Amino acid sequence: MENVSADDALKLLLQGNDRFIKGEIINPYQVVRRRKEIIHGQRPFAVLIGCSDSRVPPEILFDQGLGDIFVIRAAGVTVGNVCIGSLEFALEHLDVNLVLVMGHQYCGLIETAANGDDVHHHLGSLVKTASKAVENTKDLPGDHLENATKENVRLLIETLETKSPTIEKYINNGKVKIVGCYYSLDTGKVDIIA
Ligand SMILES: [Zn+2]
Repeated sequence: MENVSADDALKLLLQGNDRFIKGEIINPYQVVRRRKEIIHGQRPFAVLIGCSDSRVPPEILFDQGLGDIFVIRAAGVTVGNVCIGSLEFALEHLDVNLVLVMGHQYCGLIETAANGDDVHHHLGSLVKTASKAVENTKDLPGDHLENATKENVRLLIETLETKSPTIEKYINNGKVKIVGCYYSLDTGKVDIIA
């Protein structure tokens, strides 16, 4: 796909999500011809940073195909060095303008953080940001897990915007946008939240 602006990329994704909700998926670009077309290079039109949860695979939720979305996933939508480095690669080498950070309903990692469960070894570093999100939202009215998940997305965006000179450079150029969203398992709908 040719260079797609951040706004157009967001439109494409939300249109795909709308097809998914209505059960009108078209499974674009999941054919042999497409596989062959992109053998020697990819031009995805969006980066998606999301959770590893098996119920939230971006290509399915947004009804996209091969070569469309550059996906970075870890439990609880974690933004560490691996994620930041992957995003830097996508911006520098793939010319992508939209970065979508997606939290989701009933996220196990957020629940773990909210419950204050004991976590050991590497899992501790994943729960850290989520725990801050849980703390920041503890007095808000409404569904605490949902509030914490949305806050987690906002904190992650803040990290992406401030921890990498490369990412900062692309944002300051005005072409790249980082957008936060929330996926509802109940409805299948993705809502923009930040
Ligand atoms: Zn999750």
